Amino acid sequence: MSKEKTTESKELEEIATESEKIEETPEEAEPVAKPHKERQVKKIKPSTQVWKFYKIEGDQLKKLKKDCPRCGKGVFLSEHHDRDTCGKCGYTQFKQ
Ligand SMILES: [Zn+2]
Repeated sequence: MSKEKTTESKELEEIATESEKIEETPEEAEPVAKPHKERQVKKIKPSTQVWKFYKIEGDQLKKLKKDCPRCGKGVFLSEHHDRDTCGKCGYTQFKQ
């Protein structure tokens, strides 16, 4: 019976040492909470504001810009100082 007791005590001692080892883990191992960086706000891409090319006069809708003759209706020509250009197909109308 005495032998069994000794083995038990040895096991207990081992467990105790293990627990001590766990306690001894250095503080560096703990994850340091870093301050969160401010999230970059995504820039919202400006949508094609086609509504700006129309104007309502009374009951009628008036177009402020020309349509592209190649692309058809709905595609407008951008106005420059000397020309009107289509951004879709590259059609250019020179002002005279
Ligand atoms: Zn076009």
